[in-house]
Amino acid sequence: MSDPARDEHGQAIGDNRGLKPLAILFDIDGTLIDSGGAGATSWRWAFDDLYGVPADIGAYTDAGMTDPEVGRLTFANVVGHEPSERELDAIMAKRLEYLSRAVEESKGYRVLDGVEELLPRLTEQGYLLGLTTGGVEAAAHIKLARADLNRYFTFGGYGSDSTDRTELTKTAIVRAGTILGSTLDPRRALVVGDTPLDISAAHGAGAVGVGVASGHYDKKELEAAGADYVLGSLREALPGIAEPVR
Ligand SMILES: [Mg+2]
Repeated sequence: MSDPARDEHGQAIGDNRGLKPLAILFDIDGTLIDSGGAGATSWRWAFDDLYGVPADIGAYTDAGMTDPEVGRLTFANVVGHEPSERELDAIMAKRLEYLSRAVEESKGYRVLDGVEELLPRLTEQGYLLGLTTGGVEAAAHIKLARADLNRYFTFGGYGSDSTDRTELTKTAIVRAGTILGSTLDPRRALVVGDTPLDISAAHGAGAVGVGVASGHYDKKELEAAGADYVLGSLREALPGIAEPVR
């Protein structure tokens, strides 16, 4: 029956009521865009090129995992042993080499609902926008380039910063503080993503976890994962931010 733990401001930890968001961090796949499977295609081509096996990453990995984890797990399953450092380097590089073409040629590539209206509006309203993605930094920018979305994101945390999604989310929040000129209270960061891994990473970093049911999981699943807020799509208003997109 003890009171919840409190921080130095006397506010219950995990309680961001009364704090206005300042930075908004977006996952990429299933949140901003659907690449139409371009990510998986690039891995398939890379494994086929180097090992003669058109590997299906979906058979070995879950949505929301970081690229280094995807590379390592898929490698171990299709090649039959843990990759050496050089083997992992080679498959990661080959995959990145193929990604631009896979994105370029993807028939199913699309920007998800509400994104093209939301990003310029948030920028205009003075929010700092960043990325939190399991993709390595270059992969993130390749995926967003086709829709010309890179220009909205000043900073990010990437799969090349950590194989652990919580850690790369913390990194993104530190980088937000670098840009703002002072440490960002993580409770003033919204982390927007389409998987339970985005939500657990948000909470692990002390931020607000906003689930958006536009990717791999529905609203109920994101609620069950502990999301602080769940949206059907990015057409709906983000918590603490005025004016829903019409
Ligand atoms: Mg995602």
